Amino acid sequence: MVMVSATEMMIKAHEGHYAIPAFNTNNLEWTKCILTAVQKMNSPVIIQASEGAAKYMGGYKNVVDLVRNLHDSMGITVPVALHLDHGTYEGAKACIEAGFTSVMFDGSHFDFDENVAKSKEIIEYAHSKGVSVECEVGGIGGTEDGVTSNGELADPEECAKIAGLGVDFLAAGIGNIHGKYPANWAGLNFDRLNEINEAVNGKPLVLHGGSGIPFDQVSKAISMGVSKINVNTELQLVFAAATRKFIEEGKDLEGKNYDPRKLLKPGCDAIIDKACELIKAFGSDNKA
Ligand SMILES: [Zn+2]
Repeated sequence: MVMVSATEMMIKAHEGHYAIPAFNTNNLEWTKCILTAVQKMNSPVIIQASEGAAKYMGGYKNVVDLVRNLHDSMGITVPVALHLDHGTYEGAKACIEAGFTSVMFDGSHFDFDENVAKSKEIIEYAHSKGVSVECEVGGIGGTEDGVTSNGELADPEECAKIAGLGVDFLAAGIGNIHGKYPANWAGLNFDRLNEINEAVNGKPLVLHGGSGIPFDQVSKAISMGVSKINVNTELQLVFAAATRKFIEEGKDLEGKNYDPRKLLKPGCDAIIDKACELIKAFGSDNKA
């Protein structure tokens, strides 16, 4: 199977009341681990890269080739979409041209009319190439300069307007935030999620900042229309912790453990285990 757009898997997830895991990749190891986990769990997946991660990986074309080639050489049979996370207007267009099968255009920092105009343009261009599109309304909270903001709440009327443009799925703040959640976090706002879900008339919703939200809140959000959950920080944290443990125990000094294939293995195994755990929590196992 070749890489697919995210449209069909998102519709099935929305109808079946589970969520597609959208794991951010950073490099070869991350991509291999994500593909290993989804094949093992028989789960569809969205592999996504931010513009910054794509730059780190050598550019959009390199990301496309990496995911496509691993997909083929590993004999992956579950549906895989390659998605741009938080794309700019220019970045979204460049990714469509480079071979991404799905893009997010994040116009949430523009005033609303400009967000609508640019979202409309990207949706038309993407759909003409068979590429699925995610747009964002109202911004997502997160940590900037060490200060964690409260999660933002999107305006249901604005969500309805963007949904009406024909976007495939929609990111809207419901109190979720990027990065690590602070101890005093108020939790997801289910009243707002309910209002948004009614306003968008059956359009699948995306939960950004999916790392560390308690599973009971995740399940409730899925039952209320969330069909894609973004996970970036959580895989980074387990990779870093496992690598730290390996080095602190002095294991990198034993034998040939300086070889990156050995040095990075505990971190990679941790990514696979965490991804499998999340796939089960999102209910996408055996949905390929
Ligand atoms: Zn995000």
